[in-house]
Amino acid sequence: MLFAQPYWNLSGVDCPCGCGASLSPLTFLTCPSCSNVVLSCDDSQAVYAPPREVASSGDFVTLAEPFGSADVLCPVCRSVALSEYRPSTSEEVRALGFEPGEYE
Ligand SMILES: [Zn+2]
Ligand SMILES: [Zn+2]
Repeated sequence: MLFAQPYWNLSGVDCPCGCGASLSPLTFLTCPSCSNVVLSCDDSQAVYAPPREVASSGDFVTLAEPFGSADVLCPVCRSVALSEYRPSTSEEVRALGFEPGEYE
């Protein structure tokens, strides 16, 4: 039996892209090549990293502007585009230091 891969979203954080989405618009995504984890806006596909800094409104960087992720390569391995990242697993999200409740 096949189950759709679940998506995990960051809870309670306003998206930096200004999309105005209030219901956890930021999705955890993982690089299929090097396992780097980023946050992507469901609305605009803007990509931010690292997730821990986005969550704390800290010193994060914008890896891809809205609707630009297809052209931007993974900043770590540079072998796949950000648009090819897959949904992160719960284990991968927890490995970044997020507790259940901080993501959903
Ligand atoms: Zn957004
Ligand atoms: Zn990578």
